[in-house]
Order: sequence, then C-alpha cells, then structure tokens
Amino acid sequence: MRFFADLHIHSRFSRATSRDMTPETLWEWAQIKGISLIGTGDITHPGWIKELHEKLHPEGNGLFTLSKEFQHKEIPESCKADVFFMLTAEICCIYRKRDRARKIHLLLLVPDFNDASRINASLWKIGRLDTDGRPVLGVDAKKLLEMILNEAPESMVIPAHLWTPHFSLLGANSGFDSIKECFEELTPHIHAVETGLSSDPPMNHRLSALDNLALISNSDAHSPSKIGREANLFNCPISYTDIIQALRGKGGPKATIEFFPQEGKYYYDGHRQCSVSWSPQETLQNNYLCPSCGNKVTVGVMHRINKLADREEGFKSKHTQSCYWTIPLQDIISEALRTGINSKSAQREYSRLLGALGSELRILIETPLEDINRQGTALLGEAISRVRSGDVKITPGYDGEYGTIKILD
Ligand SMILES: [Zn+2]
Ligand SMILES: [Zn+2]
Repeated sequence: MRFFADLHIHSRFSRATSRDMTPETLWEWAQIKGISLIGTGDITHPGWIKELHEKLHPEGNGLFTLSKEFQHKEIPESCKADVFFMLTAEICCIYRKRDRARKIHLLLLVPDFNDASRINASLWKIGRLDTDGRPVLGVDAKKLLEMILNEAPESMVIPAHLWTPHFSLLGANSGFDSIKECFEELTPHIHAVETGLSSDPPMNHRLSALDNLALISNSDAHSPSKIGREANLFNCPISYTDIIQALRGKGGPKATIEFFPQEGKYYYDGHRQCSVSWSPQETLQNNYLCPSCGNKVTVGVMHRINKLADREEGFKSKHTQSCYWTIPLQDIISEALRTGINSKSAQREYSRLLGALGSELRILIETPLEDINRQGTALLGEAISRVRSGDVKITPGYDGEYGTIKILD
C-alpha cells in the first residue's frame, strides 16, 4: 500500500504549540492533508498519554485509530480516509561531552502503550516529563538510546532535524561532527535521520557517512495546518513492523515530501536581529562576525553541510532518494489570489479546492493540471505547475527567519 506518513508533530502539551493539537484535530487535519499515518507526538507527557489511551483504539499492528465516538469532526467527502496513529515523542538531551555543551533532539517511535510506560518510568528517574511535551533531560544521548532500547527493543530512535544549528546532532552550535561521535558503539542502532526543513536528501547525499541511513522528513508541526508540510511516502503494508523494517535498511521511504530547503529557517548563515543574511562564502570572507553588532553569526545548514561533506554539490549515487519539493497549498493560493494567507477569500478557496479535488498532498503532487485549471483560476494552475517544476524564486531563510518564496512574477 502506498501512503504518506508524518511522524513528528507536537501536542498542545508542548511549549509554543497550538491548543488545537488534540487527537480529534490530528485526525481531521491528517485527512485534509492526505496523511494516512500520523505520529501522536509527546507520549512522554502524562496528560497527553492518558488522553491518547482514552481516545485511541489499538489496531493490533502496532498502530492506532481514533475511536469512533471521537470521530465527530466534519471532513470534506473528497478527503475522507482512514487515519492511523503511531506513538511518538521528541526528547531534548542537554549534556556535556568532550568538554563541550551538547543539545540534541531525538525522535522516538514506539509500538505500544506498555513500551511507552516502561520508557517513561525509566525517564522519570532522570528528569521531569510533565513540564513540557518535549521534555528536556540532562542525559547523554547515547545513554538515552541505551535506556530506551533496554525498555523497548522494538522502538526506534531517530536524530531529529539533523542539521539545525541549535538543537541537533550535526548542528553547528551544540552538535557533533559525526553520528559516531555521539553514539559510539551504539551507532548501529541508528537507522534513520530526519533531514529537517532546511535540508533535503540531495544535500544529505553529500556525506558518505549517511549512505546507510534512511532519510526521513516530517512536519514537526506545532499547529494543525502545518501537518504534512514535509512527509514520507511509504510503499508497504501499514503496520509498525513494516515501517520499522523499511527504515532499518530496506531503503527507507519510497520518497519524501520536501520544503525547498532555502525556505527553511536555517538554510543560510546570518544574524536576524541585524538583518544580516549570508551565503557560506560571505560568512567565511567576514570571519563569521556580524558587521553590525560584532557577534558571531548563526551558522546555517548549508554551511554546516559544506563543512562536513566529503562529496561535491550535486553528487548522485544509486542510493539517491527521490523527493517532491513543494510549498503549502495555502501559500500558493495566497500568491495566486494576491491576498494574505489568512484572508477570507484565500481560506474559502482552500476549502473549495479540497472539496473539489481531494486532499492537499494529492493536489500538490498528483492532480493533473487540467483538473486544477478546471477548478481554480488560471493563475493557480500556473502557480502549481511552477512549484512542481521548481521554477520559483526564494530568498533564503537564516537565523530563525523563514525564507520567502515568489512563485508568480
Ligand atoms: Zn526538535
Ligand atoms: Zn549582528
């Protein structure tokens, strides 16, 4: 079976996350977006796991569905589909190793509630899990991996948004230079990495050290409308075991849905407060120092990959993972209508298109342009066609500022 999966989201129990992130809304928006399998996020949080326990029904395949009595949201007929949930979480490890501060986010996939409870019981011994849906633990990432695999050998730990400067395994500020430096002899238990919004599979293929890892992409959504902005296309039976097997060396996902990496918040280097945005070359020429305030600029993902890569830009191997670069449909509509994303007319058009053509991912990736043209304005079809062929202008994101995209002149 061919389906889209988004395995990294957060619940309303996480900081800076929308109050709407409930099981009912995840179920609703997964269908709107075209996501068949969605991570629950935040299973380490006692309030959230209790709610999930009450509202989700085990399907006997390591995945869950929303119990019928909670399926009360109205879904456009054209988008109605089964939605499966996988128990997932994200954990932030902050610790010192080899005399440097390390701050790393790890994604966790778990097959059932018993495993989740055992993992949580052991994590409570090292820190609080109830203050944030994404708990911050003062534990070495390697030690955490060991604890999790001891409690639940079928679970999987995946370095999250691998390259972001502040909280990732290979990030410039508090990461390592290799996965091995972080996990040492436990490195063989790492089977996949999340590439994050500011990098895509071709950029990651420049490191031979990543050749044997599945490259996955997820939304890291903090609000419902961001679900599925990056995702994975799997082609296997929908079950926990089949997905884990796909990630453990059977080639990973068939393809991923990608942001244009330039649009990510940390593609370029720079200093947001001073509006300084630099390519890696400019940063080197300026010795990493902001001309305005004299502080060190934030080193972004492109720079970091240039530094650690052992292959040229554009390198292609037989492992090259296929991907679709795209832009959220509401952004495209807002450009085609020349109005703000939250304007009434843009939102009405979004609902109308979903009703006529089906889920957002289907419209972005699969729907024939003739069908879109028949539904929307001519400009919308033109805009989607340009996005599909990558014919867009992007001012790169830097230091926490998203890149800006221009699709139509
Ligand atoms: Zn994170
Ligand atoms: Zn500055």
